[in-house]
Amino acid sequence: MTTAATTPWILGLTGGIGSGKSAAAERFVELGVHLVDADQAARWVVEPGRPALASIVEHFGPAVLQADGQLDRAALRQLIFTDPAQRKWLEQLLHPLIGQEIFSYLAKGRSPYAVYVSPLLIESGQYRKTQRVLVIDVPQTLQVARTLARDHTSAEQVQAILQAQLPREERLHHADDVVVNDGDLGHLHAQIDRLHNFYLTLRGGQP
Ligand code: ADP
Repeated sequence: MTTAATTPWILGLTGGIGSGKSAAAERFVELGVHLVDADQAARWVVEPGRPALASIVEHFGPAVLQADGQLDRAALRQLIFTDPAQRKWLEQLLHPLIGQEIFSYLAKGRSPYAVYVSPLLIESGQYRKTQRVLVIDVPQTLQVARTLARDHTSAEQVQAILQAQLPREERLHHADDVVVNDGDLGHLHAQIDRLHNFYLTLRGGQP
């Protein structure tokens, strides 16, 4: 058997804020699919003992560490908040490492395909490293209502995030598959289950 037969193909899962990416991701995990999201990978690369954390401490000083040796994210955020050059330095350090972390983790999956969840899959260009793109789509009124209910944030804040994200039509333009998450969770799960069965028939993400 060749390695190609055992390395999963990658499904990129994306959607706007509050569209239901996490809810969809949970269902894939329940179905036994290997999955990682962008936030998880961003945390892993700065765990104690990882080279990125050492570089950050060397650059910003030990004040960015908590007493237990973990990165003090709030302290670091404070340091880069008002300093675009420092923010850029940090991004240039972390972005490639996070990318490597994501795709090496996905490659270890034992399921026929693996899922990468990112709100910025299209914007970041990372969709090019996936074999197929699934967009979770939802009417904007529902998107805003669900985000408000989840985050207890202001309507203005949600609008600001929406403005910063890719317009819905552009995201849909990149989709191979679309799930419209405008029903209840049971309806979402049924759609994911159906896609899962379809994905199991694919080789390398293609029919
Ligand atoms: P995202 O990860 O895309 O930001 P979430 O999966 O967190 O979105 O969904 C946003 C909120 O809406 C969460 O509180 C989630 O539980 C809820 N939600 C998602 N899908 C549905 C659905 N089909 N019916 C009811 N609530 C939902």
